[in-house]
Amino acid sequence: MRALHAMGLRPTVFHMNEGHSAFLVLEQVRHLMSDHKLSFEEAVEAARVSNVFTTHTPVPAGIDLFDPGLMYHYFSEYCSEVHIDFQQLMALGRRNVYDRAERFSMAVLALNTSAYRNAVSRLHRQVSQEMFHDLWPQLPVWEVPITSITNGVHVPSWLNGELAALYDQYLEPGWRERFNDLGIWEDIKDIPDEELLEVHRRRKRRLIAFVRARQSQSALRRQASAADVRRAGEVLDPNVFTIGFARRFATYKRATLLFRDVERLKRILLHKEMPVQVVIAGKAHPKDQPGKSYIREVVQLSRDPDLWKHVVFVEDYDMKVGRELVHGVDLWLNNPRRGEEACGTSGMKAAINGVLNLSILDGWFDEAYERSGGWAIGEREPYAEDQDALHATAIYYLLENEIVPMFYARGDQTPREWMRRVKQSLMYISPQFDCRRMVREYMTQLYEPAHSHHIRVAENNYEGVRARARWTAQIREVWDRVRFVEAGGPPPAGSVTSGKPLAVRAAIDLAGLKPDDVRVELVLGRIDSDGHLADTEVMLLPAMEQQGSAVVFGKDIVPERTGRLGYALRVSPNHFEDPLMRPCASLLKWSPVA
Ligand SMILES: *Cc1c(COP(=O)(O)O)cnc(C)c1O
Repeated sequence: MRALHAMGLRPTVFHMNEGHSAFLVLEQVRHLMSDHKLSFEEAVEAARVSNVFTTHTPVPAGIDLFDPGLMYHYFSEYCSEVHIDFQQLMALGRRNVYDRAERFSMAVLALNTSAYRNAVSRLHRQVSQEMFHDLWPQLPVWEVPITSITNGVHVPSWLNGELAALYDQYLEPGWRERFNDLGIWEDIKDIPDEELLEVHRRRKRRLIAFVRARQSQSALRRQASAADVRRAGEVLDPNVFTIGFARRFATYKRATLLFRDVERLKRILLHKEMPVQVVIAGKAHPKDQPGKSYIREVVQLSRDPDLWKHVVFVEDYDMKVGRELVHGVDLWLNNPRRGEEACGTSGMKAAINGVLNLSILDGWFDEAYERSGGWAIGEREPYAEDQDALHATAIYYLLENEIVPMFYARGDQTPREWMRRVKQSLMYISPQFDCRRMVREYMTQLYEPAHSHHIRVAENNYEGVRARARWTAQIREVWDRVRFVEAGGPPPAGSVTSGKPLAVRAAIDLAGLKPDDVRVELVLGRIDSDGHLADTEVMLLPAMEQQGSAVVFGKDIVPERTGRLGYALRVSPNHFEDPLMRPCASLLKWSPVA
């Protein structure tokens, strides 16, 4: 932030990717306090309204946590500068602000100081909502105000040149500029299978030449025997079905799952008519011992006298290695524990190059699978340890019975069903999981609203922020006394008959607040087997009349849905234009009848 200011740049919106950068908020606050004479709370709110936070990982090791002592060392001076006590600062990064032993979480700091928050795939949104539920304890998990924007890949960087040249012949001119336009990709079906296949074969030959050269260099570098060096130049076969797997070897990605049953895998790889080979690339974090042992295991197997031609481990995974792999293999394998891969992007890179995905229904693939042309491993169930064996078996079964035979089905020289799936993958995934779609969503859903919000609150030297702070203080003072006097429709309160008109009414004692100060909502849904509301929708109830000291809010509705329906009522301060922006620990009360 200081660097930007030194260059004369004054951004209105800051986008924090993961918590690592979240201390920038403290710098924002310092500036807002000294430049505009705001209080600490006012400055936090002024910064919050235009900050965007993206959470990128559900793995706890990916989130920075700092001990109170360490925080004190670096921030005690800051606290005196902005006139707050140290515990006030710590509260910004704690789930439980009263727990003085709790470490300071950068993700919690970011959530507390951003009005716009998102996860990076739809499934990751749900996982994040569960993960951060305790910051909005009165809300049901599905309403925790974190939205999602699914990641995408930069098509011009990841699409191989030969496929792009083929597109020049068959897609509309200008496709390179309009690659996120769905219509452009329809023409893929006009490309003759043979030409598409030939382009892919060329890329596979190139991949194999690349891998052989790398393996030879690596053998020479470690002064391997002459026989080993020669063999390094003979790995893989351009005519053989090729599986690719390239990733960081974090444990949750289960890099060795494919090798769980080596004998069964050998039968698949060494099949006489339909052989298979695997190229694996990866890197482990230097401190990740299990990750490193996974790599050792894979390297061991790649030295097996039966397997050395069929299993290759490529060291130093980086974008160059990744690019060759996603361009040249036939199938992309992705088998993380479900719920732990926030999005995953390597499968998208593969898909836009005509490589089919075989993947757990996690991250992006959970939303792409049905139209991707690829295969799913397992079901849409949260991860449990006993799934490792199940998932390995599922992979073998699919390879043996479906995938490999489909690839080798060459009645007329061309595997028609395979090519149909490849085209489906190209047509659907290229425009949907491309970064232009992603950037557009960030623009319209987050950056533009955040920018307008900033302009609005900064008017008249932040008068809006000051007024809101006064209002918030007033709300906090009386909130204990805000209560439902009477709630519900005709008896039995809370249950609903589909198709029958229902007059929903709630009389609320506002403890002196005005009807506009609060937001009263009806939450309507199906009553599930546990007696909870599911598939809910939220409706705003307008104020209708004063009734003694209470205000009646209500609406007449006709529930259209069938089945056992129920509803609940709630009241919260009306301090958010959009419920998605409601602050952490915001006040909310449910009606006791619910
Ligand atoms: C694409 C890419 C990644 C991320 O891939 P995931 O599917 O998210 O694991 C990591 N490293 C490199 C070098 C990449 O190119």
